[in-house]
Amino acid sequence: MKVTVTKKAEKKLRQGVPLIQKEDIEETIFSNDWVIFQSQRNEELGRGYLGKQNKGIGWVLTREKRPIDEDFFAKTFLHAKMKRESFFSCSETTAFRLLNGEGDALGGLTIDWYDGYVVFSWYNETLYHHNEEILAAFQTAFPEVKGAYEKIRFASKLEESRHLYGQRAPEPLLIKENGITYATYLDDGLMTGIFLDQREVRGKLASGFLQGKSILNMFSYTGAFSVAAAKGGAKETTSVDLANRSLERTREHFQVNDLPLKDQHIYVMDTFDYFKYAKRKEIFYDCIILDPPSFARNKKRVFTVAKNYGELIEQSLAILSSKGWLIASTNAANLPLDKFEKQIEQAFLKKGVQLKKQSVFSLPADFATTKFFPEGEYLKVLFYQRID
Ligand code: SAH
Repeated sequence: MKVTVTKKAEKKLRQGVPLIQKEDIEETIFSNDWVIFQSQRNEELGRGYLGKQNKGIGWVLTREKRPIDEDFFAKTFLHAKMKRESFFSCSETTAFRLLNGEGDALGGLTIDWYDGYVVFSWYNETLYHHNEEILAAFQTAFPEVKGAYEKIRFASKLEESRHLYGQRAPEPLLIKENGITYATYLDDGLMTGIFLDQREVRGKLASGFLQGKSILNMFSYTGAFSVAAAKGGAKETTSVDLANRSLERTREHFQVNDLPLKDQHIYVMDTFDYFKYAKRKEIFYDCIILDPPSFARNKKRVFTVAKNYGELIEQSLAILSSKGWLIASTNAANLPLDKFEKQIEQAFLKKGVQLKKQSVFSLPADFATTKFFPEGEYLKVLFYQRID
């Protein structure tokens, strides 16, 4: 199928921008066919597809004049594998991203490696329609994979998680990261128990600067940050998450690392309620980690990172020890780093507290990105230290 793009979009595609937006083409027709994108003068600009998804309406997969077929995908997978040689040869880390969508020239699909097992995440139905061809190519490039699962991340009647082929992974599947053990579940909803993009942040927490300190981990999910901090010598950790499952999963995370549970507090609770409780009880922390979802709703209110992050910072400052660390994280792609920083630093000003920015983390190398799609660099994690 040939699709003509606007003059403005032509310029973008010639530069290397991989995402097709609604306004780039005159009429959106979703079809499962591969698309040749062409200029108003019928010059070929790139090949890819159109599909309904969260961001944009399609992807350019290549600017070369070659068919998109099994061989094409096998080459893409082999290239992604080659780029990650250092990850495969590292025995201290056994889980990482194998293929990161447009960052590996395959917008609409991500694949994660969990110690010999893999998890495919599909972001639109068009690419999913070609799954047989894609899986066959994947098996050519990765014959060593023991078993595969998939997650459906587009609106559909399909099960959101299922086993695809090969052996089923143990439950939990224990993976290693910088020598620390994490418990993962590859077939339990869309999430696996660990966010692999935070590896470097966990590495930093485990590195020793939190020796003897008390940690408050807000929006703790399975407590991965708490475990990393405890492994790094933290005296005690407090993990707070609204979801019931977080209690058992967090306990399990400490247990698989032989860390005594007596120094770990786990609360199934709303973050804002916990702030009130800690303030009333005058409990102070040497390190507070904030990693909320971009958008959250509880019984009382709606929280969005773009609007409400400052409130989280303000609440944290009330219970942060002198010389304490504040770690502010977000994965909101629509909030650029400078705006995020501004929101945080405005809260410092408002509370009259001085903190110094000590480090900034973004995506690790296995989460490959392209400079032609800066929104792909969604992760921002800032480490601040109180200096007043
Ligand atoms: N920091 C975690 C990931 C956090 S995911 C990690 O690195 O592993 C976001 C978590 O926020 C989810 O587990 C969700 O249950 C929790 N959550 C959402 N709204 C909340 C609220 N109001 N209070 C506490 N937890 C909340």
